[in-house]
Amino acid sequence: MRFDQLHALYHQPLFDLISQSRAVHLEHWRGEDVQRCSLLSIKTGGCSEDCAYCAQSSHYSTGLEREELLSIQKITGAAQRARAQGATRFCMGAAWRGVRDGTEKFERVLEIVREVSQLGMEVCVTLGEIGPVEARKLKAAGVTAYNHNIDTSPEFYSEIVSTHSFEDRLNTIAAVQESGMSVCCGGIIGMGESENDRLRMIEILSELDPPPQSVPINCLMAMPGTPLADQPPVDVFELVRLIAVARIALPKARVRLAAGRTRISREGQALCFFAGANSIFFGDKLLTAKNPAVDVDLALLRELGLEVEEGVEAAVPSRN
Ligand code: SAM
Ligand code: SF4
Repeated sequence: MRFDQLHALYHQPLFDLISQSRAVHLEHWRGEDVQRCSLLSIKTGGCSEDCAYCAQSSHYSTGLEREELLSIQKITGAAQRARAQGATRFCMGAAWRGVRDGTEKFERVLEIVREVSQLGMEVCVTLGEIGPVEARKLKAAGVTAYNHNIDTSPEFYSEIVSTHSFEDRLNTIAAVQESGMSVCCGGIIGMGESENDRLRMIEILSELDPPPQSVPINCLMAMPGTPLADQPPVDVFELVRLIAVARIALPKARVRLAAGRTRISREGQALCFFAGANSIFFGDKLLTAKNPAVDVDLALLRELGLEVEEGVEAAVPSRN
């Protein structure tokens, strides 16, 4: 969808915008369906890249301890717990610039994927830059989706990262598309970009061919020690507007209300779901940042009449 169309949609009165996005949503999805994805950092910290929002970059002193790649046992244990809590998608993230075929670390990742993909959940990985060979091998090992966010507009990208380019991100996405894995690609708001930058990001996402099957919208979690540590929180209505526009521009994508939910009220989150968000990260921790507790999320989904499968409660520690 073109920028001028997105701009016109975005700047309507809020209720007109969300009425339209709700209609598009209900044409393509069941309104009560919200996917729950669990996220695990399998390799934390010490990343060579300088993404200004990221606590895992070795360019900043964020107090985060660098860890080695987790063992297969730890990872499959976490995946089993996530499944027991009702997650249907298990995402594994690594703080790397990328991975290359022929390296020991890539072999270990393939082994991890082969194990986790036996558990009956969708398997998503986010490992940084890859090419066509790595993409094919990951798909063959059992990866369903590859996450690689463009994060913002091409114009703003160099304000945020200098160690790789927007073009590099697009090349990885093209390799993933070619392999037949589904693409998970979105961005972050609240980094100091303009509303037009956000719409440019949606424009680029909607013009990918095919468009991404999953679109995470992250609100910046301002991490101490990073250059963006003092950014103010995103206004909730700006978030709702962007979700609504993403829903209209990417009708078939799962739009994920991703990082930053701890700062959004229950009412704000309800509005995001109404506007078109139909996926969340579920579990007390994101890669390194906090996420709402599982029981709090389940209570919210239930109160809104959104779907929570039977049997989930048994796996969730009680609040009493
Ligand atoms: N290194 C890989 C990469 O950059 O693609 C994978 C891991 S990276 C941490 C995954 C995504 O998490 C980033 O693209 C960004 O959108 C999101 N993210 C990281 N730190 C964040 C923060 N402080 N606030 C919001 N989103 C964040
Ligand atoms: Fe590294 Fe990814 Fe963080 Fe950038 S976002 S510093 S590539 S872990």
